[in-house]
Amino acid sequence: MNSTAPKHANPTTFNAVNNQLLIGDTPLTQLALRVGQTPFYAYDRQALTQRVHRLRQAMPADLKIHYAMKANPMPAVVQHMATLVDGFDLASAGEMKVALDTPMPVENISFAGPGKRPQELSQAIAAGVTLNIESAHELESIAKQCEYIGLNAKVAVRINPAFELKASGMKMGGGAKQFGIDEEQVPAVLQRIKALGLLFQGFHIYSGSQNLKAESIIEAQQKSLQLAACLSEHSPSPIRKLNIGGGFGIPYFPGDLPLAIDQVGEALASAMALTRQSLPEAEIIIELGRYLVGEAGIYVTRVIDKKVSRGQTFLISDGGLHHHLAASGNFGQVIRKNYPIAIGNKMGCEDLEIVNIVGPLCTPLDILADKMTLPKAEVGDFVVIYQSGAYGYTASPSKFLSQPDALEVLV
Ligand SMILES: *Cc1c(COP(=O)(O)O)cnc(C)c1O
Repeated sequence: MNSTAPKHANPTTFNAVNNQLLIGDTPLTQLALRVGQTPFYAYDRQALTQRVHRLRQAMPADLKIHYAMKANPMPAVVQHMATLVDGFDLASAGEMKVALDTPMPVENISFAGPGKRPQELSQAIAAGVTLNIESAHELESIAKQCEYIGLNAKVAVRINPAFELKASGMKMGGGAKQFGIDEEQVPAVLQRIKALGLLFQGFHIYSGSQNLKAESIIEAQQKSLQLAACLSEHSPSPIRKLNIGGGFGIPYFPGDLPLAIDQVGEALASAMALTRQSLPEAEIIIELGRYLVGEAGIYVTRVIDKKVSRGQTFLISDGGLHHHLAASGNFGQVIRKNYPIAIGNKMGCEDLEIVNIVGPLCTPLDILADKMTLPKAEVGDFVVIYQSGAYGYTASPSKFLSQPDALEVLV
């Protein structure tokens, strides 16, 4: 193997003792006994806490940090996050139910996403959740629901900016998009909000996801703050909430480096100081999903078969793409790359071999590792996939091939 080939960044979240990966302080084999089955997802409470604390150190003190629940909506995780972050951003009535079960004040919960149904709108209005408006039609639907149920709605305008978040894994702003209202159309929408007498809160600008380049994030944040200041001239009332999105990425693949958050925080502090001059009442918010929870979770499967086919070794595990679509390379990746993986009961073992790890599904897409060098594993050993705290279980087609469900635990 070429020693200069890019490697996976060392996962720093989990330690190992006596060849066992530790989750919290529990050795993996013991945790698996506690859970009672494989496959399962395990999320580390302490790691979530440390992550948010570290982020706060890097960010301006007056910046609000929201958790975007779609990254990991497990109720126990969301309950824990409620003690750490300043608010929640959600994208369905299902997520809203989980959020409202936590102690998070409803003033700090917002609901974004295209295609909100009338029922979802009235639920959010009744709850007092801020609705981020995604189209002119949605605004009219909100007004109609307010009339039916006799309550007023808190609304913010989600802006589809003219700029894009550069070097982003998934672009969600700029150009023609189903998300938000094109910035050119925002003045007219603001006028309509005023005419309808809705409770205007501010703006939401979300340009993309999974970005590891500090310069791109800094640029998008500066442009978002400028755009908000500019459009605020048309606002029916002072901007109270200004959500400038997130997009902070985590390293998944060989060669990926962690995002330089201190650099982002420093630049944001100066940009926010400028914005304060024109928007003194605005609470400035970033919303993060993956960055807060992604590295705090692992997916654990067990080897159920081992075979050699024409010179290549295959480990066949009881988990696969039906629980973890992203690790199989089928969740938005253009070229399949391996997630970081370990044999969780053979940590540090030096008897290595090159293996393919596949799941039990009858499709060639069900790959977890393609020719990875790992400690030699046998039937019964644990395959651990790191960086699995976000877009794992709920972002996977768990019904495919009628396999048993995975469990999720917070440790
Ligand atoms: C998906 C999404 C997020 C979270 O994205 P991450 O990459 O997980 O941080 C935040 N805001 C909105 C509007 C989203 O759609």
